[in-house]
Amino acid sequence: MNTFHLSGYPRVGAKRELKFAVEAFWKGAKSEAELQEVAAEIRRLNWATQKAAGADLLPVGDFSFYDHVLDLLCAVGAIPKRFGFDPANLTLEQYFQLGRGNATQFAMEMTKWFDTNYHYIVPEWYANTEFSAHSARLIAQIKEAKAQGYDIKPTLVGPLTLLWLGKKKEEFGCTIKTLLPKLLPVYAQLLRELAAEGVDWIQIDEPILAVDAGEAWTNAFPEVYQELTNTGVRIIIGTYFAGVGEHVKLLSSLPVHGVHIDCVRDYPQLETFADHYPSSKVLSIGLVDGRNVWKANLTKIIDTLQPVKEIFGNNLWIAPSCSLLHSPQDLAVEEKLDPEIKNWMAFAAQKLVELGIIKQALEHGKDSVQAALKVSDEAAADRATNKKIHNAAVQARLESLPAGADQRKSPFATRIKAQQEWMKLPILPTTTIGSFPQTAEIRAARAAFKKGELSAADYDAAMKKEIAYCVEIQEKLQLDVPVHGEAERNDMVEYFGEQLAGYCFTQFGWVQSYGSRCVKPPIIFGDVSRPNPMTVYWSSYAQSLTKRPMKGMLTGPVTMFKWSFVRDDVPLSVVAKQIALALNDEVLDLEKAGIKVIQIDEPAIREAMPLKKSQWNEYLDWACEAFRLSSTGAEDSTQIHTHMCYSEFNDILPAIASMDADVITIETSRSDMDLLTAFGEFKYPNDIGPGVYDIHSPRVPAESEIEHLLRKAMNVVPVERLWVNPDCGLKTRGWTETIEQLEKMMSVTQKLRTEL
Ligand code: GLN
Ligand code: ZN
Repeated sequence: MNTFHLSGYPRVGAKRELKFAVEAFWKGAKSEAELQEVAAEIRRLNWATQKAAGADLLPVGDFSFYDHVLDLLCAVGAIPKRFGFDPANLTLEQYFQLGRGNATQFAMEMTKWFDTNYHYIVPEWYANTEFSAHSARLIAQIKEAKAQGYDIKPTLVGPLTLLWLGKKKEEFGCTIKTLLPKLLPVYAQLLRELAAEGVDWIQIDEPILAVDAGEAWTNAFPEVYQELTNTGVRIIIGTYFAGVGEHVKLLSSLPVHGVHIDCVRDYPQLETFADHYPSSKVLSIGLVDGRNVWKANLTKIIDTLQPVKEIFGNNLWIAPSCSLLHSPQDLAVEEKLDPEIKNWMAFAAQKLVELGIIKQALEHGKDSVQAALKVSDEAAADRATNKKIHNAAVQARLESLPAGADQRKSPFATRIKAQQEWMKLPILPTTTIGSFPQTAEIRAARAAFKKGELSAADYDAAMKKEIAYCVEIQEKLQLDVPVHGEAERNDMVEYFGEQLAGYCFTQFGWVQSYGSRCVKPPIIFGDVSRPNPMTVYWSSYAQSLTKRPMKGMLTGPVTMFKWSFVRDDVPLSVVAKQIALALNDEVLDLEKAGIKVIQIDEPAIREAMPLKKSQWNEYLDWACEAFRLSSTGAEDSTQIHTHMCYSEFNDILPAIASMDADVITIETSRSDMDLLTAFGEFKYPNDIGPGVYDIHSPRVPAESEIEHLLRKAMNVVPVERLWVNPDCGLKTRGWTETIEQLEKMMSVTQKLRTEL
């Protein structure tokens, strides 16, 4: 028998039951017992679904009230001492405080889990961090699953990945040397307690093998896994999100019982492992994409696995490529999707069924699943040719782009003169990043409009009123380049996705982002084009209210795909360039309508980087080309801005410069302008607007703080290249603090101008 297993399943419930229960608990509207009941019911349903699909080993430990990394930190007792909690007697209330903060302690930091949109709680490492084993919660869930009659395989993040994910909160030399000797015995103790509970297999995830973690980390594997294997459980090491073919020797030599590899992200590693991994161990192959929404091509997968089965026999296991945590839960509850498009999709529940079919075919031959294969083949054939996906005009336009189509008409030095001629901006020009407060009234108006309770005309009037107010405030503040404030936008990706052909939306396709927060990413299913202008109406209205140059606002091609589920039948570079050309239509229409300052936001450019450094250059080449294509054909006098949120840019500055935006605004205030220093040292050639205050808090900074940052900026960037703006959009702020903050920013700018 070829074991069908999985390491994780969506845990918020098909209709986000857990989210609502957790939030009710926080508000005091649900007791802990009631919350536990909701959680147990979700686990019961999840396991039953997995079993019904034919899974042999069901996951335990994938369920979490907040985050599974935080759960593991609790299980190994690594709770920051600053909270003063006793790891042996941690209450659920205290557990949530670790993730959300309390009256005296700020929350533990969170950050994105590799290249996903899932956020984990970042471990805090101190030289004196202590560990201790607390297996009660996990064991309770193991008992629960067993009582329901299931064979299980708990999944835990591995000790090395856990250490690697953490952040040193003080300097203490090498994490591996300082902390591993303390963590390893505790981790082993945890496994022993599981073994005593009758656990046979355990999956230990070490995704750091798939990133360039460095030799110090890979060298630590043999000792760690010798120690863990001695505990008596059988270990399968889980890897995902990228290939680990370069570590096949290391993985083969470890005393563990098997490995799982992600062959969706790295197909060629399948052959590497089939040829070089010992067939006396379990080789688990992930060919069903755990991170996307598309049906698998079952015939192809079965044909791929057959020869591996000949080598590995029953030691060939099958699983989704990674935990299904990253995919929406159940396609069956979608009522509004176009049935043709829906027929190409599979969410977590459907992926389980696919794996069940693959398992059966491996055991009893393809004939035993003929009907299912026919359905799968037909869907694949339809997807390959369907006119809803394949738009000949879009493809031809991209293919026939002339050489140099991604270049502006003239170099920056010429353009900036043409821009200055009509813009007549003062030194240190001021602007904002785009959004202004999304007030409760704005959100209520949009909700009412969507429900049909507010007419289109009334919604239009409500948005115009907001825009007019926003422009009036900016006039009063004397902001040099005003914006319309983005009142009409629900979200910077969804707003455009809704207006572009090739995108569709689900009702319940939620994926956990962090804690109780879920996102419902749009889905790019086909060739992308822009049937009608998207922003010209609102931007033109805003421009009609002021003589100052109104800045139009678009979301860039990389961000548009990165925050969506993307089709997997063409390369990402093609998707990005198609979006770029759709945006280009918008840029040229804005220009025609007299909007001659246009910002194309790319906050996701850094986060879309491949996990492996060796693939960065290739990605940056097409990503930056896509950005440039968005403004192809724009007049020299049209000023293109871009914006990026806080992230490490130091190592990709040449690429950022190659985007050739006339003005880039970046988030710098929280790093005390350190980020800008890198731009300065690199001699970034175009205009640059470092954020001079943090927009993440309602706190109004003192003028002296803004002045300190601005003076620092003037020291590293030539003053004629420098803009003044907040760190990021203001949509999460209230009006009162926004006005006060901007007043301070303007007053400091005016003061410094008089010195120049
Ligand atoms: N223009 C967007 C805004 O101001 C940019 C948001 C972002 O960078 N994430 O809200
Ligand atoms: Zn931003």
